Amino acid sequence: MRAVAWLWDLLFPPKCAFCGRVLEESGTGICPGCRDALPVTGDGYRRKADFLQTVVAPLYYEGAVRRSLLRYKFQGVSSLAEAYGPLVAGKVAGFPDLAFDRITWVPLSRRRERRRGYDQARLLAEVVARSLEREAEPLLEKVRDVPPQSGAGSPEKRRANISGCYRVRRPDRVAGARILLVDDIVTTGATMSECARVLMLAGAEAVVGAALACGRE
Ligand SMILES: [Zn+2]
Repeated sequence: MRAVAWLWDLLFPPKCAFCGRVLEESGTGICPGCRDALPVTGDGYRRKADFLQTVVAPLYYEGAVRRSLLRYKFQGVSSLAEAYGPLVAGKVAGFPDLAFDRITWVPLSRRRERRRGYDQARLLAEVVARSLEREAEPLLEKVRDVPPQSGAGSPEKRRANISGCYRVRRPDRVAGARILLVDDIVTTGATMSECARVLMLAGAEAVVGAALACGRE
């Protein structure tokens, strides 16, 4: 088994999830340099978003974090979820007041998922759940894609565009539950708020958001 792992590392050397440098050992998937230099949000950092109890994220969406997430989303480097997940789980675990019964994610539409080959928020949620010794479950589905040009505009316009895009898949698992909602990035918070609104309408008791990275407010 060790020989196989050694050969695997020789063929596919583990690389830092943020700068791409080859690592001496697989470990956390983050090199010492990035560990010191990443734009961390800091202890106790949380932000507000409509319909969510709170949103937590370990990193700001800039520099090496932004480049890494672009590789994760658009270049098929799905293995990066293994390095991201423990960072998000660590952030969530750092707030003992954040109680939740179920873990889910902000889903892609089926059409997008087919095209990309994977749902990046789902992969992240699964690693977050594993790190917390829990399981992630599909509670939401995206029934309609927002037209690409509608990303711009006022917050009200963005919210109107995204309204009706998500639907609860498992109302029986949502009613009365406190839900941890995972996504890779939170920028305006409009998407996460819309998902939380739909979950609250279906009777969720509370929704907490968790992402790898967020924009500075
Ligand atoms: Zn690095």
